[in-house]
Amino acid sequence: MIVILGDQLSHQSAALRDMDAKQDVVVMMEVCEESTHVPSHIARTVLFLSAMRHFAAELRERGVRVWYSELDDAKNTQNFTHEVKRAVVELSPQRIVLVQPGEHRVAAMVQQWSKTLGVPVEMRADDHFVTTHEQFAAWAKGRKELTMEYFYREQRKRLGVLMEDDGKTPLSGTWNYDHENRLSFGKTGPSPRPKRPVRFEPDAITRDVIRVVQAKLPGLPGNVAQFAWPVTRADALLALKDFVKHRLAGFGPFEDAMWTGEPVLYHSGLSAALNLKLLDPRECVEAALAAHAKGQAPLQSVEAFIRQIIGWREFIRGVYWLEGETYNQRNYLQQHGALPSFYWTGDTPMRCLRETVSQVVDSGFAHHIQRLMVMGNFALTSGVHPRAVSDWFLGMYVDAIDWVTLPNTLGMVMHADGTASKKPVVGTKPYCSSGQYIKKMSNYCTGCKFDPSKRTGDDACPFTVFYWDFLHRHREKFAKNPRMAQILGNLDRFGETNVQQITVSAKKLREKFGIGAIDRPRSDSEASGRTYVAGTGQHTPTPPGLFA
Ligand SMILES: Cc1cc2nc3c(=O)[nH]c(=O)nc-3n(C[C@H](O)[C@H](O)[C@H](O)COP(=O)(O)OP(=O)(O)OC[C@H]3O[C@@H](n4cnc5c(N)ncnc54)[C@H](O)[C@@H]3O)c2cc1C
Ligand code: SF4
Repeated sequence: MIVILGDQLSHQSAALRDMDAKQDVVVMMEVCEESTHVPSHIARTVLFLSAMRHFAAELRERGVRVWYSELDDAKNTQNFTHEVKRAVVELSPQRIVLVQPGEHRVAAMVQQWSKTLGVPVEMRADDHFVTTHEQFAAWAKGRKELTMEYFYREQRKRLGVLMEDDGKTPLSGTWNYDHENRLSFGKTGPSPRPKRPVRFEPDAITRDVIRVVQAKLPGLPGNVAQFAWPVTRADALLALKDFVKHRLAGFGPFEDAMWTGEPVLYHSGLSAALNLKLLDPRECVEAALAAHAKGQAPLQSVEAFIRQIIGWREFIRGVYWLEGETYNQRNYLQQHGALPSFYWTGDTPMRCLRETVSQVVDSGFAHHIQRLMVMGNFALTSGVHPRAVSDWFLGMYVDAIDWVTLPNTLGMVMHADGTASKKPVVGTKPYCSSGQYIKKMSNYCTGCKFDPSKRTGDDACPFTVFYWDFLHRHREKFAKNPRMAQILGNLDRFGETNVQQITVSAKKLREKFGIGAIDRPRSDSEASGRTYVAGTGQHTPTPPGLFA
């Protein structure tokens, strides 16, 4: 019996490689628990289930027997372990084969199966990725800091991507083009406007999934009306082609820019297809290299895109498995505030957050800089508990799976993945900024009621107030980091009175936004707060007093 989980939808999966179609049965399960352990955006749930149903149909067309448990099957127990048990009772397999899940929580369930079900379980390595756990651990061993840039350079050499013939020198002598990239769109905006990603209108299977999810899981956050994500490998390949043809060339220069009404800009929009394994990272790299060879995309963009695929994506996954299952409990900066309620609605006068959160609510997607420098930056500097933030990101994005979401949120955004004896892992310094950065990189501040240059007063930009307050609150910790010296020097020039005013303003703002006290310790599970009550259409309210 071969178990295929919802993010393992590749016909090249290691679990299917030696399948005997005459004897083996593929088991696939839709379970409510996966949409409720953190409140999952309806588009995310629909994407997973639709892609699974399409994949099962493809397997059946190839003559494979599929045991498939749909969300609204009367017998469905809505939990992986219980469903596997049901399949074991019906199929009496000699063994269970599956690929390592993308989440410690699910891996822990699988670890129990052979004991509780009395059937041997063979968990295979996930060779969708270009780096094995062993390779990452060997690279990380003995290093004081895990710096993505050095990992990426090793990946380039090991994989022979964008290298000169000697295998040691980067193509054109440059490892990255950051100095040429990071452009903004100035005052006029992107011109011409980048072509929006190709849309995949819901077919009969997707429409049926939407109906079932709305009936079975009423009240999931987000909207599904705009749903147009690739749900098959054929769709995903078209999406890759579309990106390479229309947006790859602009990817590098504008990778850090933001603009109202432009949720994707020159980004690929391929993360969900990659994470479900509808696309292979190698073919994304090859497509970008081929575009460069044909003169369709400059090296600065091709390199920037490849860095995301073989650099960041693999680095983040390496960190997740290396740091282990207690990683999600870290809170290096000891911040304990509640997530403001506007993260679920976009209902806020802050124009940057209104735009980006509304976009996430409507589509389940935001591009990297919106995640990092708007939604993440606000949560970090205002003092929200890292677990509340990582649970929100895990639930609200169509591409979210724990191995990739957690190190990005807990590590990159919240600078929370250090411990008493260890520096933070993903970021050598916190990614934080005042409203001035948002002003420089976007047009969000135009027409906003706040002023990004002000740090005190009624019209002070909350980002700017929280930024300086954050640096002041964590001054002692940050003083040990040479990369923070210049910025702390700026803070020192403000004078005591001004710093006190900032502290008072930040406290008032926290009260206004419902963030509450940020220094009262609460456990990570307490911080997660909201739990979806299946079938009721409700999320349990945050327990009274929890974030008071
Ligand atoms: C707070 C936060 C949460 C995030 N959560 C997720 C998540 O749940 N799932 C997810 O896939 N990515 C996540 N990312 C990383 C990144 O933001 C998304 O991969 C990217 O925005 C997806 O859009 P895209 O496909 O257009 O990416 P592009 O900008 O086109 O990049 C190309 C690809 O590179 C990979 N990539 C780029 N950056 C990263 C990164 N930091 N980590 C891992 N892969 C990367 C993705 O597969 C992406 O599709 C998160 C980043 C932040 C700051
Ligand atoms: S002024 Fe501040 S709150 Fe308003 S859009 Fe700019 S950064 Fe966001």
